[in-house]
Formats: sequence, C-alpha cells, structure tokens
Amino acid sequence: MQIFLINLRAFMAGRYGFDQLGGFLFGLSMVFWLLCIPLRWMHLPRVYFIFWALNTGLYVFALFRIFSRNTYRRTVENERYLRLRGRILPFLQRQREKHGDPDYFFKNCPFCGTKLRLRRVRGRHTSKCPKCGKKFTVRVLRGGKN
Ligand SMILES: [Zn+2]
Repeated sequence: MQIFLINLRAFMAGRYGFDQLGGFLFGLSMVFWLLCIPLRWMHLPRVYFIFWALNTGLYVFALFRIFSRNTYRRTVENERYLRLRGRILPFLQRQREKHGDPDYFFKNCPFCGTKLRLRRVRGRHTSKCPKCGKKFTVRVLRGGKN
C-alpha cells in the first residue's frame, strides 16, 4: 500500500487533480447514468444512447481533467465554473424562497408570535410551539405531496 501511494504521488506530480468542477462533472455524469436505467426499460434506444454518451463524455472529461498536465487551463476552467455557480446558486435560492417548499409552510404561534415551520399535511392538527410550549390547532386545506 505504501509503495502504491508513493507511485501514485509520483504519477500525479505535475498533474492537475480534483477540483470543484471535477466534482460537478462526476455528479452530472452520475445523474445521466441513473437516467439511463429507466430509459433502458422504456425501450428508447436513441434517447438512451444520448444519455449514455453524455454520461460517458462527462466522465471521461472529468478523468481527463484530473490527469491533465495543463494545470493553467484546468484552473481557468474551474474558475469559470465557480463564477457561473456563484451567479446561478443565489438565483435558484431566491426562486426557492419565493415559491417556497411545498412540504412545509410558515405560521406564527398564536401565543408568542414565534415563526414556526410546519409540515404541510392536509387536515386538522394540534401543534405545540417549541418556544412557549402552548398547543394550538392548525388547519391545512391544501396538502403538499399527500
Ligand atoms: Zn409560542
């Protein structure tokens, strides 16, 4: 094992290695791989091939970046990815806050006014406020997933 590690270190010397973009590429490749499974059952060979090619392409590109000796280009790629992510993530977060989580909703405790996050389960429920400990009835008209 020791020898293997030393060899690996010697092999990786001067090579780029793993970064955030690498993680993203592996993750995305995994998503396409998972999507391939139901497509196989559905007998959609063309769609299956596209997803399979995307999975393989992303995987190979991610591996290529790890072993690449052109560390400057790989760093530029990663920086571009991080800049893009920095712009997209806050946007998605705002959208999420705007539309809310369908499984939960917010309500103020009728006794102490604390903002509570409650599960959206259809029907009449008794909730207990974690702050003041008082119980109150909650009516949910619109269910989330249930
Ligand atoms: Zn309360």
